[in-house]
Amino acid sequence: MIKVILWDIDGTLLDFGQAENYAMKKCFSVLEMGECTDAMVERYAAINTKYWERLERNEITKQEVLIGRFREFFENEGLPLEKAQLFNEEYQIRLGDKVFFNDNVKTLVEELKEQGFVQLAVTNGTLAAQRRKLAASGFDTLLDGAVISDEIGVQKPNIGFFECTFGILAKIGTYQKDEIVIVGDSLTSDMQGGNNAGIVCCWYNPQEERNTKGLHIDYEIKNLMDLNKILFTN
Ligand SMILES: [Mg+2]
Repeated sequence: MIKVILWDIDGTLLDFGQAENYAMKKCFSVLEMGECTDAMVERYAAINTKYWERLERNEITKQEVLIGRFREFFENEGLPLEKAQLFNEEYQIRLGDKVFFNDNVKTLVEELKEQGFVQLAVTNGTLAAQRRKLAASGFDTLLDGAVISDEIGVQKPNIGFFECTFGILAKIGTYQKDEIVIVGDSLTSDMQGGNNAGIVCCWYNPQEERNTKGLHIDYEIKNLMDLNKILFTN
């Protein structure tokens, strides 16, 4: 029976696409860089995903992700490269400005808390942005804790990230690996991480993408509310 839920934040608890769109446009406005269209945000998002995947493969550092993605985007779009650093700093703040929940997940987290489930956030985002998001969403008090890669120095899907998570859980209670589920939208960080750690894997896949990575997936859900079925039928 599942007793612990490890929640990914971006793209799982929170609708990252909406937050990203808002933050990009806000930064363009604050830094007086002209208009940022939806098409530009889409082009940036594709670059951003590519950089995070390179980090997951340990090919580049977090700092190289943060600045590199904007440098590449700025270069492609003919924007002033010297503003990339400042843009990233502003972006980290703006990302935490507004929260957009996926499905009805806040109510679900509240209900699961009442029912005694232990719930932790597990995220590769930056410390500044994730702390702001957790506070703005109310998850900072609802959840039993948050494991943020920036804080512990190792990111999903590395086993070290999950060893650290197990260490935090050990202070709360004693849990077997088959009592812990990770719920996340990313195959390369969440499901690969869950496979590495040997815990139960629940892939949040609202877009019905294909599992192209050959990963072991225990459950696949299109709506987070479907997690209830998994928790109460196992
Ligand atoms: Mg995610």
